[in-house]
Amino acid sequence: MSIFRPARLCTATRSEVIRHGLLAILLFLYSGASLGDTPRIAIIIDDLGYHLANGKRAIHLPGTVSVSFLPGSPRARLLANHAHMLGKEVLLHLPLQAYSDEGRSEPSEIGIDMSRDQLSAVFNEALESVPHVTGINSHRGSLMTRHPGHMLWLMEEISDHDGLFFIDSYTHHESVALQIARESGVDAVKRDIFLDPDRSAETVAREFERMKNVARKRGRVIAIGHPYPETLELLERELPRLIEEGFELVSVSELLR
Ligand SMILES: [Zn+2]
Repeated sequence: MSIFRPARLCTATRSEVIRHGLLAILLFLYSGASLGDTPRIAIIIDDLGYHLANGKRAIHLPGTVSVSFLPGSPRARLLANHAHMLGKEVLLHLPLQAYSDEGRSEPSEIGIDMSRDQLSAVFNEALESVPHVTGINSHRGSLMTRHPGHMLWLMEEISDHDGLFFIDSYTHHESVALQIARESGVDAVKRDIFLDPDRSAETVAREFERMKNVARKRGRVIAIGHPYPETLELLERELPRLIEEGFELVSVSELLR
């Protein structure tokens, strides 16, 4: 008996090892599957570069958030450098002509009256004015994004810079930006949610919930917000909770990958 007992123990241990091994493999496979199913959220804060205080607050948001700067705006370079240091993804918030001007057009806006050369010059100057740019999202653009000719020129410019991607902020439902970007070989995606179509705290909270629902349903979502106190306050409070609720916060380039 005493001779066989260690042998039996040994057998039991071996089968346990096998059982634990199988369990570990199953757990690994399961965790791998659930990791792939984690709904991913990419948030962009744009219209940055004019105001230092709200710009600083935006680049210090907790977790992965992309920040987008208006070209030639007085604080863009300083804030973009700082954002990059903090590990935030930096985008160029490229002004494109809107349907209605309302006297708010940016000096670096690209419009449908421009020649190919003018467009190229304005685009490249805009790109050079913001450091660390990995991609572009459109500012306004309800007119320009419906014009295939000029959008093609723009996408040709973007594709000249290896790896730059394009986010259609989607300010008009007839936008052709996404289609033309893809035909030109530019990685592109369109905005799903505006977090603050108006600035009330109720609206921001409602759109934030809508963003989570879209992420759960489709597996991923792109939301754009602005550096309003109401938006920043909600994000400062809610971003850390997203992780606890089972979402993954990613940069735009991660979402596109
Ligand atoms: Zn904008």
